[in-house]
Amino acid sequence: MRVAIIGAGLSGLAAGCYARMNDHQAIIFDQLGWPGGLARSWNREGFRMDPGPDLIWGHEQGTSTHVLLRELGVFPRRGVSLVRWGVTDEKGQRKVEITSPLKDLERELKRMAPADVDLIEDAMDACSSMEAGGLLDTLASVPSDLGGLSTSLSVRWKERRYLSYLRGAWTEPMAEWSERFQDPFLQRMMSSLCAPESPAWLGMAMLSLATKGELARLDDGADGLVGSLVDRYMSLGGRFGLRSMVKEIVVEGDEVKGLRLSDGTIEEAERVITASDGREVIYRMLDRRFLDDEIERRHREWKPSTPQVSVSIGTSRPMEGLLPMATVLLDSPLAMGTTPNLSMLVRSYDSSGGYAPAGKGLVCATLKSDWQFWYKLRALDRRMYEEEKARVGGEILKRLELLLPGLSQETELVEVSTPFSAWKVNLGHEGAPSGWSLTEEAMSSRTIRTLPGLKGLYMAGPWAVPALGTQGCMFTGKHAVQKMCHDEGRAFKAIAPLG
Ligand SMILES: Cc1cc2nc3c(=O)[nH]c(=O)nc-3n(C[C@H](O)[C@H](O)[C@H](O)COP(=O)(O)OP(=O)(O)OC[C@H]3O[C@@H](n4cnc5c(N)ncnc54)[C@H](O)[C@@H]3O)c2cc1C
Repeated sequence: MRVAIIGAGLSGLAAGCYARMNDHQAIIFDQLGWPGGLARSWNREGFRMDPGPDLIWGHEQGTSTHVLLRELGVFPRRGVSLVRWGVTDEKGQRKVEITSPLKDLERELKRMAPADVDLIEDAMDACSSMEAGGLLDTLASVPSDLGGLSTSLSVRWKERRYLSYLRGAWTEPMAEWSERFQDPFLQRMMSSLCAPESPAWLGMAMLSLATKGELARLDDGADGLVGSLVDRYMSLGGRFGLRSMVKEIVVEGDEVKGLRLSDGTIEEAERVITASDGREVIYRMLDRRFLDDEIERRHREWKPSTPQVSVSIGTSRPMEGLLPMATVLLDSPLAMGTTPNLSMLVRSYDSSGGYAPAGKGLVCATLKSDWQFWYKLRALDRRMYEEEKARVGGEILKRLELLLPGLSQETELVEVSTPFSAWKVNLGHEGAPSGWSLTEEAMSSRTIRTLPGLKGLYMAGPWAVPALGTQGCMFTGKHAVQKMCHDEGRAFKAIAPLG
């Protein structure tokens, strides 16, 4: 069976590996000249810019994520290091390390915010009961639409410990839920644990991962991860069609027959797995022919994930003053385009892992932004677009100076990546970097992996399944193949390479 996959990002690469493990001929098409999609890094004057995904959780033996990463050849070849994560105000006067053991964190938060003792206890109870690795592992790894009664019973059994935290007030958007806290620092710290529109339980799950030492960074970043996936795919006999823009999914009757590329070439295939923008697939490549009310409603009402600006700063020495991952709560809103930011995520690296030349450092700040602003600016006036990027770089340097004294003098290079830069890579609707926004509704809704009335098409990636993190994307690739095998009446095979 010949399977054509659209998109060579993490989701498409994973789908390709599992398609090959299940004896399908696989070819992955991508408009770009390299695989990896948004998981990419690039070099500038010896610094490695790597603003995309680098976190992984639940990587320990015994988790579904560990099994996935072994099957995909990431483990044992690539190492991970636990991440230390802190939250600080902009002047560094109030700060807390949230990758502390839960009891220590609880004590520290109670000391900082005595008026919020009851709420702190509730939050810490949630973190403790959630076994976040377990909860998120179950949510990401078990395809709710596959597996029949025994799987759903075993999921229910696993979920029983967390269920009370997946309902009631915990499902409120984080921005609202955190308003309960009286202490402004604590309120903003809680609110920054996940996207403001995501349910509070997801923020608690993040906190739980942090306090239990389950939050890790891949030692060689996006490059290492993508390199492992590509090696695994090629060693399984997979093929690529790079620099190939897919324009149409060719359908005869109710069956997929292949792809039409932008140069007019038809690539025949009995199966197509999409791992690119879902709206583009449904509304353009299939010309709205395979839709139902629910799919239309989601595309009308659900919000795409928020585009991001990232500012990478190469420095002449590693900067001290912040933990390797730090959420900085800003004194006054910082506008990126027309989006105000009340916090920014700052990642710091030294030369280990190849992020900076020996003795030097790299600081990368990520903030929310909006698509229209950058898209229009770039389309209207390239010079003004570049000037705005330079202004943003300067503004971030200024805002970080208090926490990282001497940063401006030590700066050798500033590289700004906008939602427009990310869109050129992934062609995501309105510059969305990661499919749908992780709202309570999106996370609790039925998975749509196939389209009504169409045989042979399977959807992967965070547009098909609101995906939880880096491994979440790779799980969607695995599950698309699992569903394909299920529909073909074949047993699904997943094999880890030897060694
Ligand atoms: C600045 C930034 C920071 C991020 N940080 C994190 C993080 O810390 N943790 C995290 O989990 N995630 C993070 N993300 C999101 C993460 O990068 C994505 O969720 C993930 O990489 C998506 O992988 P994917 O394979 O589904 O899609 P993508 O990486 O978007 O790949 C889609 C691929 O499809 C190709 N394509 C699209 N349309 C076509 C077409 N018509 N024809 C041919 N090819 C096509 C594109 O070229 C692209 O290669 C971040 C993203 C950004 C931009």
